[in-house]
Amino acid sequence: MNLYYAEGDQQVGPIGKSELQSLIRSKKLNAKTLVWQPGMENWEELGVVIRSLKGKMNDADSAVVPAKQDRCSECGLTFNEDDMIRFQEAWVCAGCKPLFVQKIKEGVSIAGAMDYAGFWIRFGAIAIDGFILWIINLVFFIPLGILAPTSGDNPAAFLSFMPILILVQYAIPAAYDTWFIGKYGATPGKMACKLKVVVEDGGRVTYLRALGRHFGKWLSSMILAIGFIMAAFDDQKRTLHDRICETRVVRK
Ligand SMILES: [Zn+2]
Repeated sequence: MNLYYAEGDQQVGPIGKSELQSLIRSKKLNAKTLVWQPGMENWEELGVVIRSLKGKMNDADSAVVPAKQDRCSECGLTFNEDDMIRFQEAWVCAGCKPLFVQKIKEGVSIAGAMDYAGFWIRFGAIAIDGFILWIINLVFFIPLGILAPTSGDNPAAFLSFMPILILVQYAIPAAYDTWFIGKYGATPGKMACKLKVVVEDGGRVTYLRALGRHFGKWLSSMILAIGFIMAAFDDQKRTLHDRICETRVVRK
């Protein structure tokens, strides 16, 4: 490898692979540094070049690399584990660490590195949502209770009111879950607990999936709410409805 890199408006090089690694380690170079080597048409970002070289370099590495080394999940170069940080499943080298930390702060999902929310914080979020829905229900039911004919006076008229009561009872929680999760990724209870519902790869949940997940919660609440309790024993803290809808609840 005969690599040149840009430092201000200077071109430095050529450097070899070990020199490149130590420059990345000392944070002189990062994935955004412009580099060039013979055979390349234009200068490109180091991250891009390394990714395109990755295949070739893997072969070269495997011949000389002893144990206790790992590949940086960001730039793909191999370093001693002592020189890297571990973030859940991912290893990150010193050079990539600032960018990586930035990504986490900005909430970019990192493969294999989601912070799944545990049973009790989720329980707290559900309790808050339950309270809010109870208030909303009261707001609807008090006027309905006044307007609705009592069963004693007129049983037929009372029965005709039942569909409205049932609709309010079921449609409001469904709309609540669907709208908040579809639009913001979280119900007010989850927002308060800094939780978010995402799909497997960390992406957003569509309105349709949010609605499906709401009905999935009905299943989860059956048989002593075993579907909810499953979250306490799952490696990704999934409830039954998370499994059905391929969703996860993560900390923001
Ligand atoms: Zn790296």
